[in-house]
Amino acid sequence: MMQYKPLGSTGLKVSELGFGGSPLGEEFGPVEPGEAVRAVHYAIDQGINFFDVAPYYGRTLAEERLGAALQGRRHQVVLATKCGRYDVDRFDFSADRVRSSIDESLKRLRTDYVDLLQAHDIEFGDARQIVEETIPAMREIQRQGKARFIGLSGLQLRMLRSVASQAKVDTILSYCRYNLMAEHLDEMLTPFAKENGIGLINASPLHMRILTAEGAPSWHPAPDAVKEAGRKVAEACKRRGVDVTKVALRYCLNHPYVSTTLVGMARRSEVEQNLQALSYTIDPELLEEIRLIVAPVAGRIWRTGRPENYDYANANAQG
Ligand code: NAD
Repeated sequence: MMQYKPLGSTGLKVSELGFGGSPLGEEFGPVEPGEAVRAVHYAIDQGINFFDVAPYYGRTLAEERLGAALQGRRHQVVLATKCGRYDVDRFDFSADRVRSSIDESLKRLRTDYVDLLQAHDIEFGDARQIVEETIPAMREIQRQGKARFIGLSGLQLRMLRSVASQAKVDTILSYCRYNLMAEHLDEMLTPFAKENGIGLINASPLHMRILTAEGAPSWHPAPDAVKEAGRKVAEACKRRGVDVTKVALRYCLNHPYVSTTLVGMARRSEVEQNLQALSYTIDPELLEEIRLIVAPVAGRIWRTGRPENYDYANANAQG
């Protein structure tokens, strides 16, 4: 049975399993448009109510597809999108761009408001600009009724915490920092989020496809040792007759504070498979075996964003 959890202090209740929209933008390979729509409809029918997307995913394709799929169903979902990132290396966190960005997103999503607007991958921006310009512009959008709440997203936890302590936000989306391969979310962000009533969204439970039978996509930024450990984890699960995705998702679903675990999906079969994690319990022996495999690379991340925003002064030590 799907559980619904409060999203921080927003008053919104979100399904513990959330729908990550980046695969709708073909970030992980081609997706047949009809299949994408079927995946979204099936997810809603099965009780998934949190959908996350961004202009960046598929360079607007993911928003277009989600908008089309949500026609007539918009009221059934909590809809999140982002602003500030528009291509691999194209960022603009200025107030003007934030304002035009939400209007463009609303058009593509075929709605007049989103539930959550998030500044996307803030480590690529200037911390001061995010605090003094981006967040105030997002609050203005909230006052206009185009977004019900606002948040931040990114990989670098120290910066997320520091920005959120200088300018109040409603949610923080962190990715690849709490799953079978990663462990720093609770050390660096969860206590702060809890104390401040900030909703925590945990994305990429499959470590951006490392924890699947198929393995990482070619663009995956993780060091090879992390990918290799992921392959071994998948094999260990297979030997015990369980798919690695189920174990990986269940592990994240067990988190006591995270409001929703966002897994990327674009096919009905993936939604079906991932829903099975809701009623699954991980064998403690398997979890111990996984811990031993991952230990040498646990929590290793990679360089992303501006060097001054890295979590670790010596990013090489970690990535
Ligand atoms: P993920 O770990 O959820 O992995 C997604 C990949 O796994 C996709 O290729 C998907 O097709 C595949 N997959 C899903 N279920 C599967 C199954 N049962 N069997 C086999 N393969 C399966 O990574 P993600 O998509 O990057 O993260 C989830 C979502 O979180 C994103 O779609 C996005 O909405 C959000 N996110 C946001 C940020 C950010 O804001 N900076 C960063 C990362 C992710």
